[in-house]
Amino acid sequence: MVINEIFYSLQGEGFLAGVPSVFVRLAGCPLRCKWCDTKYAWEKQAGRHYGVTEIVQTIQQNYSKFVVITGGEPMINSDLPKLLKKLKDLDKHITIETAGIAYIPDIPCDLMSISPKLSNSTPADPKLSKIHEDSRLDVAVLRELIDNYQYQLKFVVDSEGDLSEIRQTIEEIGNVNPEKVMLMPQAATRDELLAKSPTIADMCKSTGFTFCQRLQILLWDNIKGT
Ligand code: SF4
Repeated sequence: MVINEIFYSLQGEGFLAGVPSVFVRLAGCPLRCKWCDTKYAWEKQAGRHYGVTEIVQTIQQNYSKFVVITGGEPMINSDLPKLLKKLKDLDKHITIETAGIAYIPDIPCDLMSISPKLSNSTPADPKLSKIHEDSRLDVAVLRELIDNYQYQLKFVVDSEGDLSEIRQTIEEIGNVNPEKVMLMPQAATRDELLAKSPTIADMCKSTGFTFCQRLQILLWDNIKGT
C-alpha cells in the first residue's frame, strides 16, 4: 500500500474528538476538493510502499487502541480489507475517514466517518471540476455505508447557504439518523476556524445537528502530521 504518512495525534474531528489515535494516511484521492487540506496526498504515488506487516508494526510503536485510516480516499484501496483484518486481530478501534464515494462490504470498521462533499468543494479549474462533479456524491454508496456500518456524517460548511443542500442530500440518502449528522466549519487555519465557528454553531442550534470541531487546527493551526 502507498502510505503518505503515519503519525500519532489526537483525533480532531467527529464524536471521538480528543481521543489519542494513530493516523494512517493512504495516498490517492480523485476528488480534488478546492479547499482540501491534504493536497499532498492526492496522487496515488504520494508516499512510499509499505507492506501490511510494516504498517501494523509502525502503528504498534504507539500506545493507542484507536487507529484512524484516512487519506486521500482510503476506500478506493484494494488492500484495505487485509490491513483492517490485521488491526482487528489486535483489537484496535478502527475509524475510516471517507468521502463516501466507494463501498466495500464486510470490513471490520468501528466508525465510518463519512464526509459527503457539497458543491462548495468544487474546484474552479474546469478540467478538475468535471472530474469532481462526476464523482463527489454517490447516494447509493452513501446509503450502503450508512445501512451497514456505525457512522457519523460530517458536512463541511462554508456558509449558511449550504444548509438547503445539506438537507437535500440527507433526504436523498434517506434513513439518516439526525443525531449522527455533524456540521464542520470549512477552515484551513485557526483564524479562519474561529471566524466561521459562531455561524456554524448557530446553524447547529437551529437544526439540532452537532457542531464538529477541528481540534487539530485549533491546537496546531493545520501543521502536517497533526
Ligand atoms: S475528498 Fe478529502 S482528501 Fe479527497 S480532495 Fe476532498 S478533502 Fe481532499
